[in-house]
Amino acid sequence: MNNDKAVVGVVGTGLMGVGIATQAALHGYRTIVHDVDAARLASVGPKAEAVLDELIDAGRIDSAAKTAALTRVETHATLDVMASAQFIIEAIPEVLALKHRLYEALDALLAPDTILASNTSGFPPDVLTTPVRAKERFVIAHFWNPPHMIPLVEVVPGSETTPDVLARTVALMSAIGMEPVELQKAIPGFVGNRLQFAVLREALNIVRSGAATPDEVDRVMKASLGRRWGIVGPFEGADMGGLDTFVDIASHLMPELAKDEDVIDLLRAQVNAGRVGVRSGTGFYDWDEAHVARVKEGRKRLISRG
Ligand code: NAD
Repeated sequence: MNNDKAVVGVVGTGLMGVGIATQAALHGYRTIVHDVDAARLASVGPKAEAVLDELIDAGRIDSAAKTAALTRVETHATLDVMASAQFIIEAIPEVLALKHRLYEALDALLAPDTILASNTSGFPPDVLTTPVRAKERFVIAHFWNPPHMIPLVEVVPGSETTPDVLARTVALMSAIGMEPVELQKAIPGFVGNRLQFAVLREALNIVRSGAATPDEVDRVMKASLGRRWGIVGPFEGADMGGLDTFVDIASHLMPELAKDEDVIDLLRAQVNAGRVGVRSGTGFYDWDEAHVARVKEGRKRLISRG
């Protein structure tokens, strides 16, 4: 079975499910979506439209592509419809019992060669598959939010996932405009979140030391590594800097870097004060309209680059 005529199923139409379904539909796939919450299901059309409008605004697609994509998204109130999908992406909440219950129900319905992919943020594949009979057809496809702006999908095998399932998953992710990166095996946080939180730990450590404010740390990042990392990753950067030089720097600098989890207290203090970030209007920053508008403008520039 190849993916050419695959029907893509998406279970769970929250933040991630809608973004994933829109990507699949935009790239020509009939996409069937299901959610247990009728209101969430009813909001799929308008939310997909908003994503497609953002792509039109950024000059990435035209209105004909938008219309075509919207006609390819079908919402269904019952899970049974997933029997006609060849590739299912699960995007329900990060609650193990919920995911297990869903997989049990899907096991009874799925066609024999259907792939079941989870968008889990962190559960190891072998923990997710406990109730799954066809463990060889299970894989993790970890999208980032929002999929029309951040192309990465980490494709992570379980211990029984077959090479063919991995290859088909990678091929489908490419076909829907994503950039799949296949991992050799599962590790907590996969790769992307480990890198993100390693940087955040040191950013918090710097603030804790009093050497720089959050704003100064952010400015350093945006004017340096933020630019470089869009072109070369940390290993390319090390090769370009000279590995001998990097040994010298790492030898005296790495012992200075944070290794503790106490830095989380800096986040906890904000949360305990009711400052959870953009959602509450304040966090490390006061999120006034001008600040939000500046980020939106940057987001538009990024989407227009594709
Ligand atoms: P969400 O809460 O926005 O959406 C989850 C949806 O699943 C809801 O609409 C809910 O009604 C529905 N749902 C619950 N139980 C269901 C069931 N049994 N059958 C069908 N639908 C069901 O969550 P989200 O942020 O979209 O996250 C979904 C998954 O993606 C989680 O595993 C999360 O860890 C992962 N993820 C999230 C992000 C992110 O930035 N939010 C990024 C990557 C991965």
